[in-house]
Amino acid sequence: MQLYNKLSAKERAALIEEAGKDRLTLSFYQYAKIENPQEFRDQLFIVWDKLDVLGRIYIANEGINGQLSLPADRFNAFKTHLDTIDFLKDIRLNIAVEQDNMSFLKLKVKVRKKIVADGLNDETFDVTNKGVHVGAEKFNELIEDDNTVLVDMRNHYESEIGHFKNAVTPDVDTFRESLDIIEDDLKEHKEDKNLVMYCTGGIRCEKASAYFKHKGFKNVFQLEGGIIEYTRQVKEQDLENKFIGKNFVFDERRAEKISDDVIAQCHQCGAPCDVHTNCANDACHLLFIQCDKCKAEMDNCCSSTCKEIIALPYEEQKALRKGQGNSNDIFKKGRSENLPFKKDLRNISDNFKSNKA
Ligand SMILES: [Zn+2]
Ligand SMILES: [Zn+2]
Repeated sequence: MQLYNKLSAKERAALIEEAGKDRLTLSFYQYAKIENPQEFRDQLFIVWDKLDVLGRIYIANEGINGQLSLPADRFNAFKTHLDTIDFLKDIRLNIAVEQDNMSFLKLKVKVRKKIVADGLNDETFDVTNKGVHVGAEKFNELIEDDNTVLVDMRNHYESEIGHFKNAVTPDVDTFRESLDIIEDDLKEHKEDKNLVMYCTGGIRCEKASAYFKHKGFKNVFQLEGGIIEYTRQVKEQDLENKFIGKNFVFDERRAEKISDDVIAQCHQCGAPCDVHTNCANDACHLLFIQCDKCKAEMDNCCSSTCKEIIALPYEEQKALRKGQGNSNDIFKKGRSENLPFKKDLRNISDNFKSNKA
């Protein structure tokens, strides 16, 4: 039996188009002890492939982290299947704020060491001693408290296009980096301040809150279900939305609009813009923010170098990128040498010290 994705993204997109059915994008995670991740992975793949599920799912001994889409009319079948698995019974599914049938174009179920690349050595602290989970209403109350420090646990390229008002947004490329920065900046306040944290769907805060408690922070809170669940509760309970801009997501949609504010700038000209794009040069593929005007002027490229390269015949381009990998660099968009405007901006946006911490 074929237990791997068979179709290319293009073929899949054509099929989705042809089917003309609404698809639902959602995410969920669960920390649980999985003895045989490979076997569990194969079982999931067989069932989900039949249900026409697409997405990126990580499975490890520590649990499962899934972001996926499926035909809306298969939702009940999908839910029923989850309910047959002990640790996924009645799990909260984070339904995407903005739907798009093309959010995922492949089904990738991967076995990993961890379900989030958090860079932490879990043996050194009690991962089950987590912060207090709070819903949107309590969260809104807490972040208005003068005694609260609100911290964004995501990376710079995520908070750049959207974050909670007054949040500290560490200028980091990785989760691991942000932990030390936050600890150092708040070391005087481990006992007297409320440390309130949030991330996209809640998963990063599960480890971060336990880590900070281990480091001596006394009052640690985390937004349950992250920005996605917050947005749902705000609508459902008619609460004030305190999130400004867009929620960055790791699928083809790239972001979902939470408020109408545009808080970022084009990395090339500085005009207000919060639309991410990948550099058209396949050897570069840098993910960065580009306005329509620059897109046209630069032929969808991040730099004049890349623009020159894509003007070359395809065979020459291929020869140029032989042996070069780009996968590690594409998210470092704010740090690229190719984006002089963005580099200047970083100094101003280094908001850590100036915040109320
Ligand atoms: Zn521009
Ligand atoms: Zn480029």
